[in-house]
Amino acid sequence: MLKRIRTQTAHSVLCYPVAATIFPTLFPRVQFDRAWELQSIYNELYCVVAGDEQWIYETIKDLFPVDHFAADLWEIHEKVKQAGGYVQDISAGIFRSDYMLQGGDVEIGLDANCNSSSDLELKQVEFNTISCAGGCHASKVVDMHRHLAKSGVYGSLTDDKSLCSLSSLPSNNNTESLAASLAEAHNMYGQPKSKVSTETAVLFVVQPDNFNVADERPIEYALWDQDIPAYRVEWGSDVLKYTSLSDTQELLFHPPWRGSQKPVEISVVYLRAGHEPHEYDEQGKEACLRLERSRAIKCPSLMAHILTFKKVQQALTVPGVLERFLAPEKVAAVRATFVPMYPLDESEAGQHARSLATDPEHAEDYILKPSLEGGGHNIYGADIPQYLSSIPRSSWSAYVLMERIPSPSVGNVLMSSERIDSSAVISELGIFGTCLWRKVGGQCDLLRNSTAGWSLKTKYADVDEMSVVKGFGCFDTPLLF
Ligand code: ADP
Ligand code: MG
Repeated sequence: MLKRIRTQTAHSVLCYPVAATIFPTLFPRVQFDRAWELQSIYNELYCVVAGDEQWIYETIKDLFPVDHFAADLWEIHEKVKQAGGYVQDISAGIFRSDYMLQGGDVEIGLDANCNSSSDLELKQVEFNTISCAGGCHASKVVDMHRHLAKSGVYGSLTDDKSLCSLSSLPSNNNTESLAASLAEAHNMYGQPKSKVSTETAVLFVVQPDNFNVADERPIEYALWDQDIPAYRVEWGSDVLKYTSLSDTQELLFHPPWRGSQKPVEISVVYLRAGHEPHEYDEQGKEACLRLERSRAIKCPSLMAHILTFKKVQQALTVPGVLERFLAPEKVAAVRATFVPMYPLDESEAGQHARSLATDPEHAEDYILKPSLEGGGHNIYGADIPQYLSSIPRSSWSAYVLMERIPSPSVGNVLMSSERIDSSAVISELGIFGTCLWRKVGGQCDLLRNSTAGWSLKTKYADVDEMSVVKGFGCFDTPLLF
């Protein structure tokens, strides 16, 4: 399991191993099962919201003057409409809902005195709708932990032979599950529709110099194993160079190695790129516009991509909003995972949040977040007041303020290419969901709603950030108790 780094030549690529824990980490079974059950409701919620363009616009429009990424994405959406509108009414989603356990002072352990999993609550950190990574890495790490358990390595280190039994280590089929959802979208697209193609394929759109390649390729290979061709193209100029739109808006892929043979018609565009603002230079915007205008099923479509914004997550916590999208019993289940989140704008809630964020004592309990992905963008606790005073007040509304989830720590040994350390650690559980939906008028017709798998990431308890590929944290397996 390797992570590619950005140093490479035409003939070689330097890789180093993705960080992993040596042992699985204690995680209560009740909360693991809860997160798993919740995923189908979260899937439904995000599919339904993706169809409500008006609500999305109202939610993010105040970002446009202060967040050029939001403005860029909305501009592309407007251009698609001006050019005749979306021609594909089916969308696909590979989502990941991330949670931490709330209960900083709860002691987790296998001994009966500290088995207080009922005092812990599952709280959502964020909901990701685009380029959700880590699925394949997570499967590899659980395979390693299950192998170590099976071969008796853990048993030889402890008196309690049942400590890491296989029944405590859930298996994981992320790679197959994610590929199955893309395969279903591909099959739903059906036969080639353009006059010039006789075959269809899934297109992975990836970042140039990408360090997630080892997390993406296995999904591609799993599609080939089902006789579904899957190709890769880099975001931006390569999308423009190697694809075109037919007269009837099919997305045609012209593999450079096939010369003047017929192009391949793309059934599904799977985006593992396009989630970072710097990708939207002129070529990036044009590439995105071409993909969105095409008949290919997008995973995700532009509206679903926008739902990954922290601003959207915050807006869903406003009283009464979930009720617009979900049945009452589902509302209650989802809301139970929310922690307080506030806008940082001029509204009444925003003024309240501003007073919390600028007060050094209160700020300790909060995290300031822009609507960005992939780690490294948040401002934590005591740093918030000074950070806010260093930027123009007019740009504060680009952020949301989220209450910090105080998580219990346990012990483990973390292993990265730089060091091996035993330490107090904190984990985050991600649950993958896969969806397929058709927009019919203003309604969402859910064609697939499935819980695909999980990932567990673990970091040193005193580290705020989490992004394994950026050097914070390790992939891990829950040791369910
Ligand atoms: P990103 O899109 O960059 O992944 P996240 O919202 O996931 O943004 O935040 C990055 C990391 O910061 C999380 O993985 C988690 O470790 C930490 N974090 C974020 N929100 C909270 C929170 N409310 N309480 C505690 N830690 C948090
Ligand atoms: Mg995150």
